[in-house]
Amino acid sequence: MPFARPSSGTADLADSVGPVTSEQVRRALHDFVEERDWGQFHSPANLAKSVSIEAAELLECFQWSDDADAERVSEELADVLTYCILLAERLGLDLDEIVLEKLRTTAQKYPVDRAKGTSAKYDAL
Ligand SMILES: [Mg+2]
Repeated sequence: MPFARPSSGTADLADSVGPVTSEQVRRALHDFVEERDWGQFHSPANLAKSVSIEAAELLECFQWSDDADAERVSEELADVLTYCILLAERLGLDLDEIVLEKLRTTAQKYPVDRAKGTSAKYDAL
């Protein structure tokens, strides 16, 4: 049976079968925030700060070793992505579209024939 779109909350999403789409995740987060009336705290500035705070927590996982705890890394990565998704929604941006648009721009700066296998910045290729 194909994935059933959750009507509200995250429980339906956790029980669903099949690949989860970014729209389903966005909807689950939207419903989660709405149910708790937390949108009032989600100014763009607060969400941008939260992205940075959670990114720091992700980085902390690797502070003393590259051999980080996989579960903690997964949780912190989820926190980063959660706030990115919420910020994109708050700003009326389609996250998939802006990532693909930026990828097109980056691909022009880093053409495969010059960038393959090197970490040089685009202006040093
Ligand atoms: Mg966290």
